[in-house]
Amino acid sequence: MKPETQAIHAGRPSGSSMATAPTICQSTAFAYDTAQELADVFAGKGPGYIYSRLGNPTTAALETRLAHLEDGVGCIATASGMAAISSVAVGLLRSGDEIAASSGIFGGTISLFCRTLQRFAVRTRFFDVAETDQAGAAITEKTKFIFVESIANPGMEVPDIPALAVLARERNIPLVVDNTAATPVLCTPGEFGADIVVHSTSKFINGHGTAIGGAVIDCGNYDWRSGLFENLRDASRRAGRMAFLWHLRHVVDRDLGGCAAPMNSFLMLQGLETLPARMRIHCEKAAALAEFLRRHPKVGRVNYPALDRCRFRERTDRLFGGRGGGLLTFGLGDREKAFRFIDSTRLALNAVNLGDARTLVLHPASTIFHEFSEDEKVKMGAPDDMVRVSVGLEHRDDILNDFETALQKV
Ligand SMILES: *Cc1c(COP(=O)(O)O)cnc(C)c1O
Repeated sequence: MKPETQAIHAGRPSGSSMATAPTICQSTAFAYDTAQELADVFAGKGPGYIYSRLGNPTTAALETRLAHLEDGVGCIATASGMAAISSVAVGLLRSGDEIAASSGIFGGTISLFCRTLQRFAVRTRFFDVAETDQAGAAITEKTKFIFVESIANPGMEVPDIPALAVLARERNIPLVVDNTAATPVLCTPGEFGADIVVHSTSKFINGHGTAIGGAVIDCGNYDWRSGLFENLRDASRRAGRMAFLWHLRHVVDRDLGGCAAPMNSFLMLQGLETLPARMRIHCEKAAALAEFLRRHPKVGRVNYPALDRCRFRERTDRLFGGRGGGLLTFGLGDREKAFRFIDSTRLALNAVNLGDARTLVLHPASTIFHEFSEDEKVKMGAPDDMVRVSVGLEHRDDILNDFETALQKV
């Protein structure tokens, strides 16, 4: 089935409920008639739900739908995008290991990799995705995975996923792609050789700014019996291709506890139904706004992957079918001007979310990246004069008018 159809029908409830919409199974635990039955489920001898930290029917429907959309072998939904990234990291790393990550990624991920995980003797080496050759230099014999974002937030860089997948395969390590900004509508990284996809479903997938969530999808490309991950030996024996997800569900996520809530899974399922339609509109409006800003005399540079002059345009064509997504950034010269612009918008809201139906503007340097030095901020793609925009679904004229009026005040 095509993505538009999968987004609505994959994971559709079957069985006794005649509801057309996903049902919210708001139950903590699941009861069994006999002690033996529950013991069998615990021992993995039969299917069944136990306790919603380990699995829940509403969340399972979301996992099925996301696995279909990403064309993966399976999925685990989590409490947030950060919970998804944390569980992948804990599932693959032990102290002394390294991560090779692109430099322009989400601030929370940088903080996890460089601060929290550093306390457990994990080191992260960064590379610039514009130069795929550089990635090789960031990989050592201690590296356990490569991490990139399909469209970096807020750097707006587009990695050459097929080239990085070749590199990962040569070094026998998995390539992990955070596909939050491109969504499976623009790109399914597994198709280009990526091994694991993570999402913050809080963003475009939810689509309306109503719940926090995340997901991990195994694309089925990495052979977990490779020997690199000794912690996955038992899981490989038990679950074969599903080894990594089995390990996350039965060990890592069980222990860390970052499970998705059933009500939030329902909201994500609902968001997914309109994701293909919404992404089309987000891309259209963002392209129009990028073009408007590019021509505006008060605006310095504009970063949008589908702009003709963008250095990532070729990759955008090859990987995303020429669609640039719903995010863009632009420079106004200094922080004061960026603040004045943000204070002057009437329609666009000043908020840290993205992928919402509403247009949102943000000054990344003083918010998500506030704890980093000026130098680090520039490297991470969040210089002090930069405004990030998540272009919403409002009428194009209203968005452009709001920006024109606010730019007049700068
Ligand atoms: C927001 C975001 C995250 C973190 O997700 P949460 O759901 O907020 O925990 C991770 N990666 C990217 C690219 C994001 O935009």
